[in-house]
Amino acid sequence: MLLGPRSDRERALLRGAKARLDRLDFYPAPIDIRHTRIVSVPWLFRLPWFRRFVGYDIGPLILVKRPLDEVSEDLVTHELTHAWQHQHRWIRLWTSYLWQGYAANEHEVQARAAVELTRAPR
Ligand SMILES: [Zn+2]
Repeated sequence: MLLGPRSDRERALLRGAKARLDRLDFYPAPIDIRHTRIVSVPWLFRLPWFRRFVGYDIGPLILVKRPLDEVSEDLVTHELTHAWQHQHRWIRLWTSYLWQGYAANEHEVQARAAVELTRAPR
């Protein structure tokens, strides 16, 4: 996939989400976002498998349903947690969905926790 340079919005989302994950110690090394991209692909989320998602992480690639201006930092933090998991244990990450399913999957639980633990206090 050919992608142009990151937009200001993409950079801001990635920086904001990384700053949040950097406060957590889930893995020995912090998330590396040098090659991480956020791409809006609304058509993908109309396909049967993707219909239930608004975001989907494939390694360094974070796919989102909405335009980046409408994407929340919470969503990017969730998906960036998957990118972080991918950097540390990608085999276990991929195979876990086969034997743990989706809803109670340890990687989903961890991604939801990352968002909750780093959400700004009201
Ligand atoms: Zn997830």
